Amino acid sequence: MSNKDFYTILGVDKSADEKEIKKAYRRLAMKYHPDKNPDDPSAEEKFKEATMAYEVLSDAQKRSAYDRMGHAAFEQGMNNGGFGGGGGFSADDLNDIFGSFFGGGRSGGFGGGFGDIFGAFGGGSRATRNNKGADLLYSLTLTLEEAVAGCKKDITYNTSVTCKTCHGKGAKSDADIVSCTTCGGHGQVRMSQGFFVVQQPCPACHGNGKTIKNPCMDCHGEGKQQKSQTLEVSIPAGMDNGERLRLTGRGEAGDRGMPNGDLYVEIHVLPHDIFTRHGADLHMDVPVDIAKAALGSDVEVPTLTGKLKIKIAEGTQSGKLLRVRGKGVTTRSGMQGDLICRVIVKTPTNLSHEQKSLLEQFAKTLSSDNHTDPKKKGFFDKIKDEVKDIFD
Ligand SMILES: [Zn+2]
Ligand SMILES: [Zn+2]
Repeated sequence: MSNKDFYTILGVDKSADEKEIKKAYRRLAMKYHPDKNPDDPSAEEKFKEATMAYEVLSDAQKRSAYDRMGHAAFEQGMNNGGFGGGGGFSADDLNDIFGSFFGGGRSGGFGGGFGDIFGAFGGGSRATRNNKGADLLYSLTLTLEEAVAGCKKDITYNTSVTCKTCHGKGAKSDADIVSCTTCGGHGQVRMSQGFFVVQQPCPACHGNGKTIKNPCMDCHGEGKQQKSQTLEVSIPAGMDNGERLRLTGRGEAGDRGMPNGDLYVEIHVLPHDIFTRHGADLHMDVPVDIAKAALGSDVEVPTLTGKLKIKIAEGTQSGKLLRVRGKGVTTRSGMQGDLICRVIVKTPTNLSHEQKSLLEQFAKTLSSDNHTDPKKKGFFDKIKDEVKDIFD
């Protein structure tokens, strides 16, 4: 793989936005596409180079890795792919690599732009492809109550569906699907990689051996169309933040009879005013006034399924955790969590004269009896010692 700067390859500025990068790649891809330059092997090299640069720069994550580390950011991947390492490499490895260059891999946002770019070839012959549809990810926000109890939600998302006009073939008629001129219909071409001559899928027809002469007008030869889709999704009880549901076959349409991709619905749970979920347990703070904490009392607390009473024992300290068994979340794996109540003892404010004098009377009783915090005396002794140290 060439070590030329990706921005230089595409002829764009480092600050170029998505549109400029796409435009630059579209221009180069049209110029160097192997179909247009059957007798010029260097064109194919340039086409691959531009495609590689586009794959990286069109993906925000890969682009930022490239900006930080340059080619080094991807060298590891290349070696694993079979080019660099000292060991042998197989045709399968190369298939993997070129598969991902020429439309096989839809990961990393590459596929989305590809159709558009090849759409630009218009009336000229174009590749037919044979890929499974791309998987989609939908992010669904739920309240804690909805996630814990389960619910039904309508979701609307854009996806590609098989074109009704051409039934996914991409061609105006069956006669418009013709043998690929680049590979002579074999689907494979021979290319030199350094010292080696290797067989690999034809980049012009993506290994199908066929291209389309007159594309279907409704889908511009893609065999599929973008459509907004609405689905009712049943969310099972117990879903947690970040968990995913997989809806088989609800992703993008596959090419020509290939299976559809899947739709993944990722759950995002909104923060709750009262409860915080930790696995199967629900945590909450229970404010208790100073008298109830000292004397003991029953306190009513909310749960996700109604109120219940918990017992605050005599002399309960602030921060004490009380566990109510079975009142947490039932997870998808069937685990039953608990409700963990943290007692927060509230210091009274805005006291009336009467309350103040009662507390003062109470305070006097504290200084002489053994209810005093045992640490308190030690604390003053310590200060005295330190003061003494300073003045001695
Ligand atoms: Zn069509
Ligand atoms: Zn071909």
